[in-house]
Amino acid sequence: MAEQTDFLVIGSGIAGLTFALKAAEKGKVYLISKVGIDETNTKYAQGGIASVMYHPDSLEKHVRDTIEAGHGFCNEEVVRMVVSEAPERIRELVSMGVKFDRNSDGRYDLAREGGHTEHRILHHKDNTGEIIQKTLSERVRKHPNIKVYKKHFAVDLITQHHLGELVNRTRKDICCFGAYVFDTENEKVSTVLSKITVVATGGIGNLYQTTTNPVIATGDGIAMVYRAKGIIENMEFIQFHPTSLYNPGERPSFLITEALRGYGAVLRNSEGEKFMNRYDERGSLAPRDIVARAIDTEMKVRGDDYVYLDCTHLDPDDLVENFPNITSKCLSLEIDITNDMIPVVPAAHYLCGGVKVDINGESTIHNLYAIGEVASTGLHGANRLASNSLMEAVVYAHRAAVNSSAKLETTVYQESVPEWSLEGTSHPEEMVLVTQNYKEVQMILSNYVGIVRSDLRLDRALRRLEIIYNETEELYKKTFLSRKLCELRNLINVGYLVIKMASERHESLGLHYTIDYPKRIMQKF
Ligand SMILES: Cc1cc2nc3c(=O)[nH]c(=O)nc-3n(C[C@H](O)[C@H](O)[C@H](O)COP(=O)(O)OP(=O)(O)OC[C@H]3O[C@@H](n4cnc5c(N)ncnc54)[C@H](O)[C@@H]3O)c2cc1C
Repeated sequence: MAEQTDFLVIGSGIAGLTFALKAAEKGKVYLISKVGIDETNTKYAQGGIASVMYHPDSLEKHVRDTIEAGHGFCNEEVVRMVVSEAPERIRELVSMGVKFDRNSDGRYDLAREGGHTEHRILHHKDNTGEIIQKTLSERVRKHPNIKVYKKHFAVDLITQHHLGELVNRTRKDICCFGAYVFDTENEKVSTVLSKITVVATGGIGNLYQTTTNPVIATGDGIAMVYRAKGIIENMEFIQFHPTSLYNPGERPSFLITEALRGYGAVLRNSEGEKFMNRYDERGSLAPRDIVARAIDTEMKVRGDDYVYLDCTHLDPDDLVENFPNITSKCLSLEIDITNDMIPVVPAAHYLCGGVKVDINGESTIHNLYAIGEVASTGLHGANRLASNSLMEAVVYAHRAAVNSSAKLETTVYQESVPEWSLEGTSHPEEMVLVTQNYKEVQMILSNYVGIVRSDLRLDRALRRLEIIYNETEELYKKTFLSRKLCELRNLINVGYLVIKMASERHESLGLHYTIDYPKRIMQKF
């Protein structure tokens, strides 16, 4: 028997939780999360959330900074809308109980980050994301109109395809009727019919061997929408954080904040050379993408696994006082940052592209919305301005809730959807096939589709990925579902999209850099 709900929300980060709380005022909400409700990218956000709050900052300055960071590839209409609606959404977060740090005069303690020309980052110490996650999820748990299902994995979106019709990407009337959801604890697949479906599944960091993202970030939403024949765009724009602590096997990777370089730490290669001066006159303080590319080149040229961040020339007492978390994390690995250099490596951090949506967060599939990191709204262009992603998530969650709620009365459940078929499947005998292919996908993307790309590397990546795709599809057809298998399949889909879109862009633009086309040739907007 299929279950029915007005809104099905897939994902419990800032985007999914905000949408759920607003939609619950208009109808019944199912909120599902593939693990616990609080294990999200949102929880790990450190810096904060950008918004214009006081003079001398202005909306115009925030718009300009965003477009500049995005290399002019942003959609200016979207940038203006998001930046101007952000302050109202911040006030709502505060009214829901999120406590941003304030100065002694009562005004917000606004931080300034790379690329921002003004102080405009609201934060709570260095754990803003955790506070937002905790506050919103507590409200969601208590809301009488919201049912929360943890350990429930959305496998596929339901469209006319499941009614036996031919659905291809040129069809303009594809409609979403809900999703097939796998209860990973009880190993049951249920059909959840919804009037409105919201994909809020976050990013794709686990496509790479080193990432700041938690293990949940496997691009499930993008892969589901792609399989349902929705449009995906700008997947080649992946932001790598230049300095995560080199500690193989640790997931997520521990971030070494840019503030440490701002404080005087310098990057050195394995020969002790301050190599950044060869790449940019600003040395270790060059922008994120330039530093990440320089580190990548040094590692590839020398065959090294990491470079060093050196703080040993800085005053030890001040260093420890200002960076207590980094000090204690490094000490736990027997690295005393006042005496030893810190081994660092770039890590996949944020996806600028994703599911193409309109100004209200609706995808190219009717009644299917995508919000948060999974969406490509046009805000970030070819590179994201720091702390603009949490802001984008709350603005679009609000817009999507308002826009979709207006459709509830005129939308009916599609009741002729068949149940999930288990025919021909058995329990997997060898999980090693899944885990090995998962690692191989990460290796292919890290080695060939990382920070610096070339036609040769992309072509090789595609051919290698195709072999794993065929093996995995074969396994998927005959094996009973598991979360790992579904995630592997989704990562392969997402990896394919990254490679395809990177191959099609014959220029270097923002986060996409290729040695075969080192210059920029096109202006989109
Ligand atoms: C270390 C770190 C620091 C950051 N710092 C900042 C910052 O300071 N400022 C800023 O603006 N941004 C920052 N970001 C980026 C920002 O945190 C994310 O872009 C944002 O939190 C994404 O929110 P979301 O709601 O879209 O997704 P997430 O918070 O990632 O939530 C995704 C949800 O989807 C669920 N899910 C996924 N797939 C499925 C499935 N198949 N079925 C069911 N559920 C599923 C997950 O379980 C999870 O609940 C940072 C990111 C990281 C990793």
